[in-house]
Amino acid sequence: MVIGYEEQMMTDSDINNALRSIPSMDGLLNAAWARAFSGCLEREAVKKIIAEALDGLKRDICAGAQFSLPVDELAALRAENLLRERAAKTLKPVINATGVVVHTNLGRAPLADEAIRAVNEIAGTYNTLEYSPEKGGREGRNAHVEWLVCQLTGAEAALALNNNAGAVLLALSALAPGREVILSCGELVEIGDSFRIPEILSFSGAKMIAVGCTNVTRISDYRKAITENTALLLKVHPSNYRIEGFAKSASREELAELAASRNLVFMEDLGSGLLYQPSPAFANREQPVRDCLKAGSGIVTFSGDKLLGGPQVGVIAGSKDLLGRIKRHQLLRALRADKMTLAAFEATLRMYLAGRQGEIPVIRMLEVDKDALLKKARALRRMLKGAVAASMNAADFAISVVETEDAVGGGAYPTDILPGYGVAIRAGSGSAEMLARGLRTARIPVIPGIRDGCVILHVRALLSGDERLIAASFAEAVRASPH
Ligand SMILES: *Cc1c(COP(=O)(O)O)cnc(C)c1O
Repeated sequence: MVIGYEEQMMTDSDINNALRSIPSMDGLLNAAWARAFSGCLEREAVKKIIAEALDGLKRDICAGAQFSLPVDELAALRAENLLRERAAKTLKPVINATGVVVHTNLGRAPLADEAIRAVNEIAGTYNTLEYSPEKGGREGRNAHVEWLVCQLTGAEAALALNNNAGAVLLALSALAPGREVILSCGELVEIGDSFRIPEILSFSGAKMIAVGCTNVTRISDYRKAITENTALLLKVHPSNYRIEGFAKSASREELAELAASRNLVFMEDLGSGLLYQPSPAFANREQPVRDCLKAGSGIVTFSGDKLLGGPQVGVIAGSKDLLGRIKRHQLLRALRADKMTLAAFEATLRMYLAGRQGEIPVIRMLEVDKDALLKKARALRRMLKGAVAASMNAADFAISVVETEDAVGGGAYPTDILPGYGVAIRAGSGSAEMLARGLRTARIPVIPGIRDGCVILHVRALLSGDERLIAASFAEAVRASPH
């Protein structure tokens, strides 16, 4: 291979000159832009970050990079940019204009106002997390939510912990260590990128016995696989997929009956925990937790931040006897929920208890009728037009109300589309991806969808007041876009 030398290649002496023009640390530390960070970064931190920026610059110079700015200016610019990046909070609010209600990457369920207030009330004070003022002594943290979960699901006992993955792990660890757990080949689910049922099973120390075929598993397949070492029959909600066509699975009732006749535990991982009877539009796929327990599931597990609309928790609910065994397991200590989570969860459950679940954001977004969405989309379109009316680029954008395909998300109703409305923006110059990027990186980030070369702002998952913020971010994106 012949390696050609480019004419503008840096010579050794160019490189040495460039390295010598890097400003001194003291000079940079004392510059006004660096001192401006003193409120959020202590001096040693500022020094380290500047050093990191200079190291990067040195590496680029030694690699022979060419720059369009003088090296001293570039050093200051890179140091300031890195300081700004490191000083900024990264976990921050965004506006969900994707139309996916339970969006795992965007934090799943936004909490109800009452749940937020409950967190605020206890976060900065001592509280009754593990204390009963009546008893004058210790009371388990689970007591704040157990009775409520039992009321709302018909379970005899319940336990709330860190998340549903932890709930499944703990239940299997407590009920089937070293024993066989039988489940259908059609339910060897992966949820997200890290929760795989076969791996959780092996992690718990249980031995997985997968029976049937991907599309068909009959109750006789389970029956034939039972040995004296079998502890548990497991049913897993196929959260994010559906097997269509010739497909059969054993029913909950059949599994419950088989488990009872052989003295086995029947456990069901429900994924989403539905605590109310949804309107007919939703009732076809997802059963309320209460119905699953009534049909004979010995214990069920579900998440708190999916259809339930609360904070991240996992719940195990079921018989007193099984929950008793689970509550004694040492792993619980590593999976317990913290006080802020329990405060939010208790407050959310109390909204159900009061029959006010319609005020929980996730449920409001799922049950909202199409006319209300259309109204919202029209209002958003007006605001977007208003926001750029004065801009030179206004004529560049075609802004219209469109029908959208929204989704529940969070592994519920995987293939059901929720018909909704949104606003489509077609950018005359510049691509939809460029505009979407502008929206995502605005001071208040807006996360849109993209379809047919248009940015689509779905209105279903917007919270009150979001329309005005979107308009501001849109104006910002338009100002920042090259023209
Ligand atoms: C979402 C889901 C999980 C994981 O729940 P997390 O609360 O995210 O840990 C487990 N099983 C099923 C069936 C799910 O849908």
